[in-house]
Amino acid sequence: MIEKAIKHYLQKQNQTKLSPKVVLFDMDGVLFDSMTYHAKAWQETSEKHHLISTPKDFYLFEGRTGESTVNELFLRTFGREATEEEKQSMYKEKATLFNRYNEGKVIEGAPELVSRVIDSGLKCLVVTGSGQHSLFNKLSEAYPGCFERELMVTAYDVKIGKPHPEPYLMGLAKAGVNANEAIVVENAPMGIESSAAAGIFTIAVNTGPLSDSILWDAGADLLFPDMQTLARDWPLLINTIKKAES
Ligand code: CA
Repeated sequence: MIEKAIKHYLQKQNQTKLSPKVVLFDMDGVLFDSMTYHAKAWQETSEKHHLISTPKDFYLFEGRTGESTVNELFLRTFGREATEEEKQSMYKEKATLFNRYNEGKVIEGAPELVSRVIDSGLKCLVVTGSGQHSLFNKLSEAYPGCFERELMVTAYDVKIGKPHPEPYLMGLAKAGVNANEAIVVENAPMGIESSAAAGIFTIAVNTGPLSDSILWDAGADLLFPDMQTLARDWPLLINTIKKAES
């Protein structure tokens, strides 16, 4: 399965080899068990403003910027774009609720995966559409010594956001590597789309309520049911990649 995925990736992206030096991690739903709180905060904010949405929508929107999520809800409800003021004030309301709910729990298996990635000689970076101010502190508390602040890509860096390749292209640039020298770990369809469009080998981990087919259709090269399984299989995965390279 892994050999086949590598072959397919090389053909699809017109690359001759996959030789990873870094792993670009998405944050919510990959490193932190925070997506239920994001979805809850969005759904409550949306209901309060009489916008049309279901909780599942926010798993489909996951990865895009907060402002573009507000805009999408305005388009579908009122048939018009949200004003800058509407975008900012609704996103602020949502962020306040999220901070109230969020417990900062890590996803099970994620710390094991991160340390196995480091053990295999690869560097870890975070690429997220999230823009919480305390983000790096949370990250270094839960994953001490694993990530560098200067190498993070957050909502403060990106202009367009996922599903556009921009955030992952910035991640590659910050890491100083080419697309075929990275691996992305993502849980959301728009994040997978963004990574695939940036030409990166993309591992989907289905930690949310969406069906696997949505993640495959977004362009995943491999799919794991959870982070524990990916952590368990990481040595096999990296050995298979190294074998295919030589
Ligand atoms: Ca995510």
